[in-house]
Amino acid sequence: MTASATTATTATPFSAKSDDFATYSTARNWINDQWCDPVAASSTQDVLNPRFGKSIAQVRLGSSADVDRAAKAGEAAVGAWSKWPIRDRAHVMYRLRELMVANLEELSWLLSHENGKIFSEAKAEVEKGIECVEYGCSLPNLAAGGQLEVSRGVACEVTFEALGVVAGITPFNFPMMVPLWMLPQALVGGNAFILKPSERVPLSTMRLAELLKQAGLPTGVFSIVQGGRDVVEALCDHPSIKALGFVGSTKVAKLVYARASAEGKRALCLGGAKNHLIVVPDADVELTTENVVASFTGCAGQRCMAASVLLAVGDVHHIVDGVRARAAKITPGKDLGPVSSQAARDRISGYIDAAERAGATILLDGRRANAVAGGYWIGPTIIDNVTTEMSVAHEEIFGPVLSIIRVPTLERAIEIENASPYGNASSIYTSSGDIARRVIASVEAGMCGVNIGVPVPREPFGFGGWNDSCFGHGNMTGWDGYRFWTRQRKITSKWALQHDRNWMS
Ligand code: NAD
Repeated sequence: MTASATTATTATPFSAKSDDFATYSTARNWINDQWCDPVAASSTQDVLNPRFGKSIAQVRLGSSADVDRAAKAGEAAVGAWSKWPIRDRAHVMYRLRELMVANLEELSWLLSHENGKIFSEAKAEVEKGIECVEYGCSLPNLAAGGQLEVSRGVACEVTFEALGVVAGITPFNFPMMVPLWMLPQALVGGNAFILKPSERVPLSTMRLAELLKQAGLPTGVFSIVQGGRDVVEALCDHPSIKALGFVGSTKVAKLVYARASAEGKRALCLGGAKNHLIVVPDADVELTTENVVASFTGCAGQRCMAASVLLAVGDVHHIVDGVRARAAKITPGKDLGPVSSQAARDRISGYIDAAERAGATILLDGRRANAVAGGYWIGPTIIDNVTTEMSVAHEEIFGPVLSIIRVPTLERAIEIENASPYGNASSIYTSSGDIARRVIASVEAGMCGVNIGVPVPREPFGFGGWNDSCFGHGNMTGWDGYRFWTRQRKITSKWALQHDRNWMS
């Protein structure tokens, strides 16, 4: 394909209102408020609905030429946009919020179909995205810089200014929420933004592009370039792009961070995870069992905050029994969505096979789940008596699988947890404030939970892990996000000669 045809913007609502299979428009690039084909010869790939393993749409993968077109559109638009008063830029977010609320059901069904997560989880994701937009609405009240008389007659002030054209690269597991971790702060900060969504879930953000236009965002300020590695590398290399946000696996986060930094760009790259839950005998049984199961099975375990290893300290058999009993009641297809692809299904099932071969006990086995023919199903799986050398103990599985390691002491639990190179989330289940504080003070994790298995810091707190879960400085969301997507100008001024001068006057 060589064409670079454009079509006028038309709303492309997604009509399905149930899990029944439905198709959608081909995903294309969004540049200058038009849907357009890639400039150069490019491949087209299927977007699969994982529930059925069937193609819902196609996506045309772009190249560096498309990144260049989007960057030029952004450059042409950003000068005027960055001069809008911040309050006016935030008003676009107000309108986007209203449009997202009005279209909540449609957005949620589209997301559910392209990603596979069940409708209630898809809706929760869109709602979390709306919360991020609301944070963008609040920025005019937060982003006032400081001013101080630093010396007699000399004032210093700071302003936050746009970087110019910036870009975001996002993963398959949260097609709407993760782009919205970046967009509100970057846009209210006065930048033009190029999004490269995961080529596996390119559809939800197509609707977001149209809603942003409806919300009054000027032409050229927001672009989407569909693609894979070629587009990512072009975003890292393009001289007009000043900052890059990335969310995805650790392997790619490291590559993107190194490449973008080498080009002198500001980069913040969130990577993968291996999250530990520590359970001690005094933990509340009902709260813990409900919470642990929700953490490892929610979104089919495809969350960077999902529980992966349960460190069972001492005699917590009653809690493990409760976790097993509760997880066994989950019905794939109804309470649990599929995993993302056949390759993901095979990989997860391979991890379970390897643990079984190595002598672990399969307490609950999801390998034979088959909720809908053709889909990529793995039911909730619990592996007990896991030892630290087994791959399920230390590699990111990214499926609804909980590995249980039995340990005699809290100290041993913390030691195992801290041997992991990752540092995203960690949770402690206990009724003791003292134990909770000791654990939180010792674990290598940026986001900690007390009796909460998915300790996502909600707005206005910033989302971001430590160690191999984050390359770059600061958090992706909240106030850190605004600081990441803006630069500070410091202005020092004096308006009259000072007679009682000191060195600065
Ligand atoms: P991924 O790393 O495969 O893909 C992420 C993005 O990088 C996609 O847009 C993809 O097109 C691009 N990409 C893939 N391979 C590339 C390469 N070789 N060079 C350049 N770009 C490349 O991740 P995924 O499978 O889409 O998402 C799952 C991963 O993301 C998990 O590891 C999960 O833990 C992680 N994740 C982390 C967070 C966090 O906040 N830390 C949040 C969500 C997901």
